[in-house]
Amino acid sequence: MQGSGRLTVVFTIVCFGIISISGCSEGGGVNIFSLEDDRALGAKIAASIASDPAQFPVLDSVQYHQAYAHLYALRDSILQTGSVVHATDFNWEIAIIHQDTIVNAFCTPGGYIYVYTGLLQFVDNEAQLAGVLAHEMAHADLRHSTDQLTKAYGISLLLNLIVGENGSALAEVAANLTQLAFSRSDESQADAFAVQYLCGTTYDASGAAGFFEKVQQDDSTQIPAFFSTHPNPDDRVAEIKEEVAQLQCTGTQTYQDSYRRFLSTLPEAK
Ligand SMILES: [Zn+2]
Repeated sequence: MQGSGRLTVVFTIVCFGIISISGCSEGGGVNIFSLEDDRALGAKIAASIASDPAQFPVLDSVQYHQAYAHLYALRDSILQTGSVVHATDFNWEIAIIHQDTIVNAFCTPGGYIYVYTGLLQFVDNEAQLAGVLAHEMAHADLRHSTDQLTKAYGISLLLNLIVGENGSALAEVAANLTQLAFSRSDESQADAFAVQYLCGTTYDASGAAGFFEKVQQDDSTQIPAFFSTHPNPDDRVAEIKEEVAQLQCTGTQTYQDSYRRFLSTLPEAK
C-alpha cells in the first residue's frame, strides 16, 4: 500500500472480447464480428493507447525487459495449458502502465493486455496477479459482449473504427475501456474460466479470490459501486473457491519470493 492511502481500485476487469448482439460469445451467441475483427479492433485500440503516453504511460519494454519477461512467462504458463480457446488466434501482448495509484488491469478485443503498476504493487503474490490476468484474458478469449460499449457507441461506429481512421473515437473507447463493467454473468463466467486456465499450472488457481479478499480488507481503497455490487465480492470468492474444488486443482504455489524480486525490477513505487 502507498503512504497516501488513496489508491483507486478501479479493477473494472474490463476486457471486452467482441461485440456480439446476444451479449454472449463462444457460448452460443450470435457474433457479428470475426476473429479478424477482434484482432483488428484490438490493434487499433492498442495503437491509440501507444500514441497517448499522457493517459497511458507505458513502461518501455527494452528498459524494463526483466519485468516484461517475468509477466510474459506468467502469461505463457496460462496459454500453454491448452485451456485458452484463442491462445494462438489472439495477440496476448502485455503493456505495463506506470501509474502507481491505479489498481487495475484491462484488455482489448484480440488480447492486448494492460496492467497498471498500482495493481502489481497491490497484490500480495504472483498467484493473485495470475488470477487477475487470467480473468482479463478470459474476457477476451470468451469474446464477451460489451453491452455498455455497444450502447454507448453503437455497432456501426465500432465497425467503422476497424476500417476507418477515427483517432478521437478510438481514444475515447480506449479511455472508457478502463472504466467499463461487465454484466454479472460475464464476470462470473470470466472468474470460472480464470480458475480453469490456472488449474493446469502450478499456481494456486484461487488467486483471484485472494485478490478480492484483499480488496475488501483494505480500508484505504476506494471501490466503485459496480465493483462491490456485481457480483458481490463475497459471492465471487466463494464461487472461485468452489470452482477450484470442483476441478480438483492441485496447484498451490503463490511464488511470493520470486514476485518480490519481480517488483524490484519495476520503477520504485511512489
Ligand atoms: Zn471481469
